[in-house]
Amino acid sequence: MGKRALQYFTLSEIEPRVWFMLTGCNFHCKGCFRPARDGGGTFLTAEETLERMERACLNYYGKIPSVAMITGGEPTLDRDYLLSLVKGLKENGFEKIVLMTNGYALGEEEDYVHELEEAGLTEAHVDLKAFSEDVHRWYTGKSNKPVLRAIEKLNASGIELLVQTIYMPGIVDDAEIEKIAKFFASLNKNIKYRINPFAATFACEKVTKRPTVEEMERAYEIASQYLPNAIISRSCYREYPTPPPQKTWITVYPDLTVKRRGMKDQAEDRLSWLGHVRPRESVEEDWHKEEWDFTLRHSLVGISELGKEVKEEKDSEPLKVKFPQALHGLTKTRETELDLDGSTTIGEVMERLVEKYGDGFRERVIDGGEIKRSFNVYLNGMNIKNLQGIKTEVTGNAELIILSWVSGG
Ligand code: SF4
Repeated sequence: MGKRALQYFTLSEIEPRVWFMLTGCNFHCKGCFRPARDGGGTFLTAEETLERMERACLNYYGKIPSVAMITGGEPTLDRDYLLSLVKGLKENGFEKIVLMTNGYALGEEEDYVHELEEAGLTEAHVDLKAFSEDVHRWYTGKSNKPVLRAIEKLNASGIELLVQTIYMPGIVDDAEIEKIAKFFASLNKNIKYRINPFAATFACEKVTKRPTVEEMERAYEIASQYLPNAIISRSCYREYPTPPPQKTWITVYPDLTVKRRGMKDQAEDRLSWLGHVRPRESVEEDWHKEEWDFTLRHSLVGISELGKEVKEEKDSEPLKVKFPQALHGLTKTRETELDLDGSTTIGEVMERLVEKYGDGFRERVIDGGEIKRSFNVYLNGMNIKNLQGIKTEVTGNAELIILSWVSGG
């Protein structure tokens, strides 16, 4: 049986789930932001990997979780290893087994997708870097034909599919997004498609700049003309408006040593990796600028700055509600105010918005009494998912922001 190098497992503090970080990759993306691409880690068989995962999870959770995410690097490089790993996870009772891949080997190797489905893979997240062959070759060093074939095969299989593209201004922007969306719509208009922003700070090569909020929202508008399940992601920005203490990741190395790592530790790992490809001072300068950009971004989209004190609530003041561009067709405005009669809940505020903007608002934003996954709602800069969801209490003099994206990362 083949071996793959495992950099570490990550355990989530939010809910029991485990990530497998496998090193090495068959692409050489200019904007790669994953240290795992360059190798390292400990070579293990799938059996050894599963055995260490089990010990790590039992130590931390006291049980085996039901969700596994296999990522890297590129996890598909050794077919026997991956098939055995997926099969072993299924036998261990995992209900959701997700593969995060560039798709190349899945499209190139006969029956790979079929065998993964047989082994128990439930979900695949495929990165499509570009639709145009020349752009794809320039960016990754490889053709995108096998990736497109992989997407077709996964779409025809019973494996749930999500495709992701990184929006890179001037390289993979509106025109490419439209070509991708049209192609997917020709296969299956219900394909889930997520567009993520390019993060220049963490990229090996700063081939372009980070897109603006307006560029991201325009990309969403373009993709959603063809694909109703298109979403944009601000990825880890979502960590910033949440109140302290922040959730962290539990990293378990192959020798089973454990380290609790927050956003700053993750950033430090990436900065030290990038220090090998770019001068460390320039990387640090970018990072400080990036922190400033987060603040700017929050003011751009209306989210309160990190650390800003929540204003004292006064019942007599109206509630300010801000809408994303995706809802402007319905609301015809970026923001509105609602007079609240004392304290109410987010769920009741949503009903008031349905009264104001009609059933179309309910259809777009609400599903079964909950906010749809394609939207996030912030109350005074805090994601209501980290409060009490739609049962969160709200009074006047508060700010509610609805954003058209789902959680990423
Ligand atoms: S496919 Fe992913 S890990 Fe591989 S080089 Fe590209 S961005 Fe990096």
